[in-house]
Amino acid sequence: MTPEPTLQTTPNTTMRALVYTGPGRMELREIPQPRAADGECVIAVSVAAVCGSDLAAFLGRSRSRTPPMVLGHELVGRRLDGQRVVVNPFVCCGRCAACRSGAQNLCPNWRLLGMNDTAGCYAQFVGLSERQVYVIPEELAEERAILAEPLANIVHLFRIAAVLPAWRMGIVGGGLMGSLALQMALHTGLRAVLVEDLCAARLDSVRTMGATLAVDAGGEQGRGEARQFAGDGLDVVLDASGTEAARQEAFELCCPGGLVVLLGMAKARSEIDFGASIRKEQRVTTSFGYTPADFERSLELLKSGAIDLTPWTAEMPLEEGQKAFERMSAMPGATLKMLLRVG
Ligand SMILES: [Zn+2]
Ligand SMILES: [Zn+2]
Repeated sequence: MTPEPTLQTTPNTTMRALVYTGPGRMELREIPQPRAADGECVIAVSVAAVCGSDLAAFLGRSRSRTPPMVLGHELVGRRLDGQRVVVNPFVCCGRCAACRSGAQNLCPNWRLLGMNDTAGCYAQFVGLSERQVYVIPEELAEERAILAEPLANIVHLFRIAAVLPAWRMGIVGGGLMGSLALQMALHTGLRAVLVEDLCAARLDSVRTMGATLAVDAGGEQGRGEARQFAGDGLDVVLDASGTEAARQEAFELCCPGGLVVLLGMAKARSEIDFGASIRKEQRVTTSFGYTPADFERSLELLKSGAIDLTPWTAEMPLEEGQKAFERMSAMPGATLKMLLRVG
């Protein structure tokens, strides 16, 4: 009954897509292909990556991603003219005060591929504005290029936190964001970087990447080593987790007058000992998303080879999307990025 998917984007043709149909369920379906409106283009997806936000949706924990829908916003693909591209999936209005001030990440009208009513990239094709598309060289490996979007978040964070090379940094949470922050810190020339996590495989990974010290924050011994390492406190501490314990840990590792950066969003609300923090006169900043300029810088860093997570990247076919999501939500182990092969 369902027609064979083709490379044309004519009306009434369908394509393969991984559809989130309910908590814990991903189904391969034939759905209509997107068509390009004025100023838009259609991208044939080569690989799409699983992001933490897609995992949250899969687990039924995202209010802005309700079934049935096609998730996904990180991709490498080709324009229909054959040019190899990555896309900036964060779409802003370009007209509001935030956009005009260069803080497009704070646009009140922002949209993201694979969120609310915008279709995502776990499909053969995705359509979006020409402005969001960046041509990349053939020699830039997919495993690297696919990081343009997640790394843009870290480029943004380092920019607004104005992190200096002489600083010592702490990172609470050694998952994808924590690992990218570690590599960015090493690239920036920070003096020392401590990473805390609860997973032994991740701690091994960040040690391989060059963390000065990586400790298990779940145990007395690890926490003791971290305190000793921090001494009077670290200059900047990033919480890349967002649990209550992780946020409090970030404040505790940070020196008086130092900077706490909150990025992780595991919990919307949590308690912090602000009495202790105020006495230390700690500065606090949150970081959200990235601007087009951050995205472009991220892409340049990936082209230069400064940031690379290839050894911690896995790949499965789109057809096994259900399995890929189960694996990443249950036991990702040392895998930081899961790619879904589409075309
Ligand atoms: Zn993402
Ligand atoms: Zn705007």
